[in-house]
Amino acid sequence: MGGKIYGNFINGNEEFNGNKIEMISPSDGSLSGYIIEANRNVVNNAVDSAEDAFKKFSSSTIRERQKLLARLTEIVESKAEMYSMMESINTGKTIRQSTYMDIPLGIEHIRYFSTTNEFKFQREIEHPEYPDTHGMVQYAPMGVVASIAPWNVPFLMAVWKIVPALLAGNSVVLKPSHYTPLTAMELAKDIKKAGFPDGLVNVINGKGNSTGEYLMENNKINMVSFTGSTNTGKHVMEKVSKNIKKTTLELGGKSPNIVMDDADLDRAAKGVVFGIYLNSGQLCESGSRLLVQESIHKQLLETIKKYIQNMKAGNPMDFETDISAITNEPQLNKIKDLTDESINSGAHVYYSKDMGKDVPHGGFYYSPTLLTDVKPDMKIFDEEIFGPVLSVSTFNDEREAIDIANSSKYGLAAGIWTRNIDKATRMAGRIEAGTVWINEYHLLSAAAPRGGFKMSGIGRELGLDGIMEYTQTRHLFYGNPESGLSDVAYQLLIKE
Ligand code: NAD
Repeated sequence: MGGKIYGNFINGNEEFNGNKIEMISPSDGSLSGYIIEANRNVVNNAVDSAEDAFKKFSSSTIRERQKLLARLTEIVESKAEMYSMMESINTGKTIRQSTYMDIPLGIEHIRYFSTTNEFKFQREIEHPEYPDTHGMVQYAPMGVVASIAPWNVPFLMAVWKIVPALLAGNSVVLKPSHYTPLTAMELAKDIKKAGFPDGLVNVINGKGNSTGEYLMENNKINMVSFTGSTNTGKHVMEKVSKNIKKTTLELGGKSPNIVMDDADLDRAAKGVVFGIYLNSGQLCESGSRLLVQESIHKQLLETIKKYIQNMKAGNPMDFETDISAITNEPQLNKIKDLTDESINSGAHVYYSKDMGKDVPHGGFYYSPTLLTDVKPDMKIFDEEIFGPVLSVSTFNDEREAIDIANSSKYGLAAGIWTRNIDKATRMAGRIEAGTVWINEYHLLSAAAPRGGFKMSGIGRELGLDGIMEYTQTRHLFYGNPESGLSDVAYQLLIKE
């Protein structure tokens, strides 16, 4: 891949006008290629072509769109191995994770939107105040959707940002993270191959403070679908409010994984390890806070430590590797700073795996770490770490567990481990989070809405709720000339 240049995908073609930005391999820090930064002209061209394509596409039926999505599923499935390689090279995540999780899950999610019959364009209603009339509620597309995505799961993110929007009849201009644009570019090309019109999906590359800003400033966009950090989300909301555009925000988290004393401890330990160290902790829903009942905490920590010791650190492209790189250097530095600061303030490193000799030289790696004695006044207690660092707190009873879980400004996800399902359901009902896993973690379904409470965001992605976000509601009121009812109203003003 060294030195290859990736352009911008606009109106069905890859274009190469603009400045180059280097892409760095997370695996060993070498130069892996370049993207062409989309300047304001390029961004505006992308939006114009999306607007033209929308005018033609929005009158298509849901059935027609799903036929094209079914073709897309087949095309991507036939290239799954190539997508997996591309994703791991670009992000530094393990090739096993790309091959067995990210890419197949993304394909299943395209398939879900190509087959779901939950979304209907319209539904009939009655008006209780006017019994002889009826109404139709329509779910019209928004128009040009501007989507902005982060770098942690770029293929899944591209699928989630593009496919439900197309099903609802929209066109899309997607700006992936400048660190990880490859699989989003490939997907846009495959969308063209599947038969969607040119210009319906455009991918523009570049940094947030240039390309991202130009996209949000374009007044022809009708909606912003943003996924990223809470700080950028705040900025997006403020900026987009100037032109009153619909906005969905999928933001950060500091999700608690709660282990009760009646849990299957071995299974809970596996779930906690999976919850925080999958993708080296770079998942918005990562269970970065372990809340464990005091009476079992020693036993649980020892079991977790054993599973961390058993993980094999190494080159992301090696099929034996369990844990690999952080996707970019600034993120590596953020993880280091936050962890060092908490250690300096009194947190204790219960265990940290030495990755040193096992990973390629020059890459971005951070050892899976288990931190105890984390106190509420430490920054790491409530700041998203987005890395492989688990902070441990203990509690004595159910009420205290819920209080600690809800003490965060975030509310994205949570896990509860107990053999008592009534207890789990009772606790889940009091947790302020958009997803609560019970005796499970991280498993995602295309049919289930995901998103955040509190500062983790606004709106939902996936499932019927996720499709509805890409629509605006129109009400058609059918009058009935035979009915005298409206005459009663009209008499307020009109005399024969
Ligand atoms: P980020 O906020 O730095 O960037 C996200 C995207 O926004 C990137 O494409 C970036 O270029 C763009 N951007 C940055 N500044 C911008 C600006 N001024 N105008 C327009 N666009 C701008 O986040 P990141 O570091 O790429 O990703 C990590 C974050 O994403 C974490 O906080 C994580 O929790 C969050 N995330 C959330 C979800 C979710 O579904 N809730 C999923 C994945 C990641």
